[in-house]
Amino acid sequence: MSWIKDQVILLTGGGSGLGLALVERFIDEGAKVGVLELSAEKATALAHCFGKDICVIHGDVASFEDNERAVAETVRRFGKLDCFVGNAGIWDHKISLLDASPEQIDKGFDELMGVNLKGYILGAKAVLPALTASEGSMIFTLSNSSWFSGGGGVLYTASKHGAVGMIRQLAYELAPVIRVNGVAPCGMPSDLRGAASLSQQDRCITDNLSLESLGAVLPLQFTPQPKDFTGPYVMLASRANNRTLTGVMITADAGLSIRGIRQTTAGVMSPNKKESSNDR
Ligand code: NAD
Repeated sequence: MSWIKDQVILLTGGGSGLGLALVERFIDEGAKVGVLELSAEKATALAHCFGKDICVIHGDVASFEDNERAVAETVRRFGKLDCFVGNAGIWDHKISLLDASPEQIDKGFDELMGVNLKGYILGAKAVLPALTASEGSMIFTLSNSSWFSGGGGVLYTASKHGAVGMIRQLAYELAPVIRVNGVAPCGMPSDLRGAASLSQQDRCITDNLSLESLGAVLPLQFTPQPKDFTGPYVMLASRANNRTLTGVMITADAGLSIRGIRQTTAGVMSPNKKESSNDR
């Protein structure tokens, strides 16, 4: 039996990658989904693909008016809101402080923070009345860059660390009515774009990330696909299975963060769990 059947979930950035996998999973589980999406092309494709189960709103998470419109249209179409998933994000292609000009830092900061952090806070503000009425929950997409360096440059890493503080603060402020949690995935193939202010809007993460080598360094020894991250969102959205979780951030990283110092001896199992390897 589904854990989220008949829930109404509003998601930002559902046009590709993780967001699209979440739309598919939520609808498979019997939920109705609203999506706020910046790309007109992706918005049209979503409406075409999911028909009556989806309400697509074309707009920008960095605008409060667009977030409000997304809530209003979703509630008008489906009658209520049970969960908000803040997910839309952009990357910085690991731009370093050394290489970035002061002007790039200035404008790139505003754009990265505007989408990745302000977009989450404005979304949370816009959904407050509907989630208060339903005693629902919020879930935000974090990243390995919410805990560690090296998954982005200083702008992306700071924006994803900022979202951790936001989750803790909102979980505290909005208790006991609304639960607020996060999911922190590791790298995955998606259409994640860079910032326009850094002239990176046409470059996506797969131009920069070697997917084969990503799988090879993860203890679970595979390259996760967007759908591999959807389970924790279903659990966190579920009322029956999540009475006690708020301010929780699930690290979904195929073991990336338990690795620590590279092991060269016993204790590291091969994928078939029968022999140890000294080269992973
Ligand atoms: P993606 O680009 O495939 O999906 C992001 C979606 O958000 C796209 O449809 C895009 O059009 C939309 N979007 C971008 N800016 C927007 C805005 N201002 N308003 C509304 N919609 C907007 O990328 P993804 O990798 O699926 O990213 C989803 C989330 O996952 C992001 O928060 C990202 O930081 C996070 N994440 C990604 C990775 C990775 O390796 N891809 C790793 C960890 C975390």
